[in-house]
Amino acid sequence: MKSQNYFTLREVQLHNNCPECYSNEGLELTFKQKFVENIFYKAITEDTKYDMHCNTCQTNIFPVRWTNDIEQVVNYQKRAVSPKPKSLKLKQAGWIFVLIDVLLFITVILFVTGVLSF
Ligand SMILES: [Zn+2]
Repeated sequence: MKSQNYFTLREVQLHNNCPECYSNEGLELTFKQKFVENIFYKAITEDTKYDMHCNTCQTNIFPVRWTNDIEQVVNYQKRAVSPKPKSLKLKQAGWIFVLIDVLLFITVILFVTGVLSF
C-alpha cells in the first residue's frame, strides 16, 4: 500500500568525457527527490539522489567510475540544485481519516466531561 518513488528534480547534460566510451556528449546527470505516496497522503521528503547515465553507450556511470573532473562538475551541480521543501498533501481519504479522528476525539471529550452520556 505504501510506495516510495522519486521524481526528477533536474537533468543536466555534462560535457565531460564518459569513463566508458570517452564520448563527451552523452553524459547526463539526473537529480531526483524522494516522495512517499499512499491512499491517505502524498509527501515530499528531503531525500535526494543523483544518477549519471551515458546516452552514447547507454551505461549507468557509478561514482566509483567518476574522474576528478566529473566529480568537480557534480559537486558544482549539487550546489546549484535546490530540492523542493518538505511537504505533505492529504488526499481525500486522508481528510476523511482526519475528520473521523477529530469527531471521535470530540465525542470522547464530551463523554469524559459528562456533557454527553449514554
Ligand atoms: Zn559512454
